[in-house]
Formats: sequence, structure tokens, C-alpha cells
Amino acid sequence: MFSNHSALSGRTVLVLHAHPDDEAIFTGVTLRRLADAGARVVLVTATLGELGEVHVPLAPGETMAQRRVAELESAAALLGVSRLVLLGARDSGLPGAADNVHPDALAAADPSRVARRIATLVDEESAEAIVHDDGRGIYGHPDHLAAHRIGAAAARLTGVVSYESTVDRDHLHDRRTRSHLIHAAAEATGLPFGVPADDVALRIGATASELAVKRAAIGVHASQVSPDSLGHAGFDEAYGYEWYLRSGASSGILDELALPAVAAV
Ligand SMILES: [Zn+2]
Repeated sequence: MFSNHSALSGRTVLVLHAHPDDEAIFTGVTLRRLADAGARVVLVTATLGELGEVHVPLAPGETMAQRRVAELESAAALLGVSRLVLLGARDSGLPGAADNVHPDALAAADPSRVARRIATLVDEESAEAIVHDDGRGIYGHPDHLAAHRIGAAAARLTGVVSYESTVDRDHLHDRRTRSHLIHAAAEATGLPFGVPADDVALRIGATASELAVKRAAIGVHASQVSPDSLGHAGFDEAYGYEWYLRSGASSGILDELALPAVAAV
């Protein structure tokens, strides 16, 4: 399906996300395309997402964290992730929640300490780029804000290119026609989401097959995402693009990913 299956072979990207499901919702197409082009993708998920809503019954004795990690492992396999690293921090909950200041909460962690751990992984993997949340935490969730601080600090420590995952708030403006999980998420935090279209540095558009994989990868997070929220008519338009800011001026591997030589044909 790709014009060059090995265009990016021997190259590695580290992708940092706050919770299980963020990798699929915000970067699923990007991860799948990287893998299909031969790149190694190291996915680092910071929390176990144990404070997410529960849409399905858990098995006797099963914890929410166990369920979410199992879902994450399935999604990572669908998206072609080569290595999954769990930082094991506690979910911080919504802005202002008491969980924000739990001693194990990601939001309460020292960003430079966690960033050093990420920097060690970057060195160990010879990763050339880090992908992490934008400066608003995409929609202001404390764990996403923490993921930004940690990712940005790790990029400074290592000097690699960093891409900030975001959403185009103009593209997703009309939730009736382009319903996206970000709408309810931003309602929960009470904060605006994403950035204006003009601020987006890089937009990656999905092929039909990449979009099908993304839909499946979001869908395996069944404890969080009901099938109703994926079956609507506007799904392709809402989820068919992924958006990035660059924290420095330089371009890197994700820019190459958007080039015709690597993009799907
Ligand atoms: Zn999240």
C-alpha cells in the first residue's frame, strides 16, 4: 500500500501520551504510517488512566488500570508500535480534583525527574524526535499539561526535534457534523481545545485504510469509548486528520511522513 515500505527504516520516534487511548485518538494515523514506512515507534504512556469513566463491567477482581493497560496493548499492536513503555504514574483526574495532588499523580510529579527518564529512553533508542502534547494540554487536562511539560523538557535535554500533538479547533468547530471525543473532553475540563487552523504547523491526512485502523484502535478502548461515538457520519472528517505544532523551527521525521514519497498511495 505504501510506495516505500522501508523509507524510514532504522529511524525511531518516541511518542509520549498521558493516558491509554490518547495514542489512538490523537496520533493513530501518524503511528500507523510511521510503522508502515519502517520506522520504530516507542510509545510511552504516562498514566494508567485509572480515573477514566467506566463504560463496561470489569471482571471480578479486575482493576480499571488492568483493563486500560490491556486495551492499550491491543491498540498499540494495531498501530504498529514496536515498544510500549508504561511510566505507571497515577491519573490526575480533572482540573481541581483532589486527585491532582495525590503523591503518585502525574500532575504532581517533578517534570524534570520524569523528563530525565524520557531522555534516557531517547538515548537508549537513538530516537530522533519526540511527540508530546501541546502547551495547553490539548484541552487542559492536568495529565496532558504534565505530558507537555515533561515532553518539552525531555526535548530540551536531548536536543531532538519535538512535535506537539494538538487539534485544529476550526476544523472541529461544528460538533454536530464533526463529532469528536475532544468535545466532551473539553466540556469536562471547561477549557477551550486545540489551536486555530492558522497555527497548525503540520497536518497529516489519513488514507481510508489508515483511518480504518485508527477507528479500530480507538474502539479497543471500550472501557472509555462507546461504539456510538465512532459510528457517526462525520467520523472520517473528524478523525481523518492529525495536527502538530513544532516547538523549534526545524522540520523532522513527521514532516517527511507527510511527503508523497512516504505517504500512502
Ligand atoms: Zn488523555
